[in-house]
Amino acid sequence: MATQLGARFLRTQGLDAAWMDARTLLRAEPGSVPGRPEVLSATCSFAPDGALEEQLEALSSLVITQGFIASDEDGNTVLLGRGGSDTSASYLAAKLRAQRIEIWTDVPGMFSANPRSTPTARLLRALHYDEAQEIATSGAKVLHPRCILPARQYRIPLHVYATQAPELEGTVLSAEGLDGAAQVKAVCTKRGITLIALESPGMWHQVGFLADAFQVFKLHGMSVDLVSTSETNVTVSLDPAANTLDNTRVAELVADLSRLCRVQVIGPCASVSLVGRNIRAILHQLGGAFEFFEEQKIYLVSQAANDLNFTFVVDENQGDRLVEQLHELLIRPVPGDRILGPTWQQLFAPPPPADIRVGPWWRVQRERLLAQLAGHDAAFVYDLDSVRSAARALRAMGSLARVHYSVKANPHRELLRTLRTEGVEFECVSQGEIERLLGLFPDLDPQRILYTPNFAPRAEYQWALERGVRVTVDNPYALSAWPELFREREIFVRVDTGVGRGHHSHVRTAGTRSKFGVPIVDLKEFARQAREAKVRVTGLQAHVGSGVFDVTSWEHTARLLGGAAQSFEEVRVIDVGGGLGVPERADQPGVNLQQLDTLLMAVRAEHPQLEVWLEPGRFLVAAAGVLLARVTQLKSKGSVRFVGVATGMNSFIRPALYGAYHEIVNLSRADEPATELVNIVGPVCESADVLGHDRLLPVTREGDVLLIANAGAYGSAMSSQYNLRPPAPEVFL
Ligand SMILES: *Cc1c(COP(=O)(O)O)cnc(C)c1O
Repeated sequence: MATQLGARFLRTQGLDAAWMDARTLLRAEPGSVPGRPEVLSATCSFAPDGALEEQLEALSSLVITQGFIASDEDGNTVLLGRGGSDTSASYLAAKLRAQRIEIWTDVPGMFSANPRSTPTARLLRALHYDEAQEIATSGAKVLHPRCILPARQYRIPLHVYATQAPELEGTVLSAEGLDGAAQVKAVCTKRGITLIALESPGMWHQVGFLADAFQVFKLHGMSVDLVSTSETNVTVSLDPAANTLDNTRVAELVADLSRLCRVQVIGPCASVSLVGRNIRAILHQLGGAFEFFEEQKIYLVSQAANDLNFTFVVDENQGDRLVEQLHELLIRPVPGDRILGPTWQQLFAPPPPADIRVGPWWRVQRERLLAQLAGHDAAFVYDLDSVRSAARALRAMGSLARVHYSVKANPHRELLRTLRTEGVEFECVSQGEIERLLGLFPDLDPQRILYTPNFAPRAEYQWALERGVRVTVDNPYALSAWPELFREREIFVRVDTGVGRGHHSHVRTAGTRSKFGVPIVDLKEFARQAREAKVRVTGLQAHVGSGVFDVTSWEHTARLLGGAAQSFEEVRVIDVGGGLGVPERADQPGVNLQQLDTLLMAVRAEHPQLEVWLEPGRFLVAAAGVLLARVTQLKSKGSVRFVGVATGMNSFIRPALYGAYHEIVNLSRADEPATELVNIVGPVCESADVLGHDRLLPVTREGDVLLIANAGAYGSAMSSQYNLRPPAPEVFL
């Protein structure tokens, strides 16, 4: 009915549209079982059909027909199954020897990851059929793998466009571009994967073991996806898209396999696939993503024989995070990229409010910044308005009873004063930090300072308790070795939630390999010990890592702490830590505070007796600071160019320590086009003294001023006298 209406409508618009029934155009092939046609998931022949071509030509230049259906040999209606309409288009194009296929759907093409869960997924402008096929079979749902086959066989370019945004460029699949440099183009994931591990010491050198095992899968009608083998173990994966994996069927399969060897069923798992060309050539880049898997299990690794796909199988609940990490690490467009297009967010995000659209504060303040550096070689410059607006954004969150600034991010007195005026409290990790606060604010109630030491000496705890500071204990050792110190006192306990988060292994502060916190499973024992020692535990705290954007991280912490609070009668506060990420690049979204607030509100509703506290450092001050440094010298070594500046890791160690990315611009030439790819390096005698790799800058000269953005947190605070080069001084705009 819809296509009939469509054809009529087009005719009222003056177009010569004819309508034809797809069941006269597409004929289903006989099913695999003779006499039993595949009624719900038929396949059709698509060899070029000259007679059909002539018939349509005679009919009209515009023919409307239905997707998804065909007829069998007896004229009965059959369905093409999943992705059926796209497959209809592809079949017809092959039969009519079309020059082009366009598929108009609800997403504007194929993306480098599922854009609904990874908003930084990028549009893939062009793909080879084989790559698209891999992406489609590895979990992407835009095109069904079956629809690619006819286009590929007859080399018909296939374009994907979005109906709701017809102006977007879309994706084109063609036979071009499979040779060329190694590149990961997409990170895909599939859920609901079941692994079957076959184990037998007897299989080593045994002829026909695999044949016997696979025969069993065949008899049970199970299609095997990935395979990995060792001398005593063969593990295969079963994909729910190709198999019915209910418990009974899996149990029957296992029963039969058990006659051959020991069988273990593992699942539910997720597969995570890297798709692109020459995938093997990029394996060395994966290190960073897998550091995260130190404490998680990877069950199976499979490298596709065609070198277009590399797949990992992990626990199902780890899949999305692995995708996020790998995507962040590997999908990095170069300027003028012909494959990687804009991100989903850039295409569909609502325009940012006007004050963000003008860019960061330092773009607006360029002249003042340049004036400020006159006569200096380098300086940190801070903008207090940015600090105030970050503080206000957090203070506006209804779920939070308190926001404690983590002083270690930047202990500059001017920043501390500003934050106090904004109603922010403080969190310290050393005696020195507390002394600075008490000196600066003689009227500050020490109970409002949160002190979170880690492996500090006994005397520091004693000092803090005597000063009336609120102390967090993160090791049962403190209670058992120094019970007299804590008797009748109130303390907080730092909890290790078991899962670390963050942008680098050095900033992930939970998990058994991290030195912080009391493991959640040991809390009951800790509570008992505290009761015995007459210590009152009034708060639980956890800080799982830094540079986190996923708001469910704090929700998860809050829920864990809320649950753990039940082991302690007097707990009234759960402190969910800091770690709120600050966007590194202009197109990266920040932490969604509104969403975070909603999630934390929900946790509060479950535990009405508890207050929720937050203790961010970076979030409050990072964007408020920039490092300015004057260009000293230029150098080229072969094709590699270096721009030297007057200060480096002695002022700003984050790039060297964490591989942190900080935007760098030539402030003196902000209006000139960026045309040169350079490394920005400092004057320190260390090859790690690099502030930015492969950055695009305008042609830069000695004396120009470079600006390193987001340097307000862990910048000056981590600076050193290394090489006896004084770090950059700090000034305020
Ligand atoms: C460093 C630290 C924070 C702050 O981390 P940010 O990433 O700067 O927000 C919070 N709590 C504790 C215990 C910390 O050590």
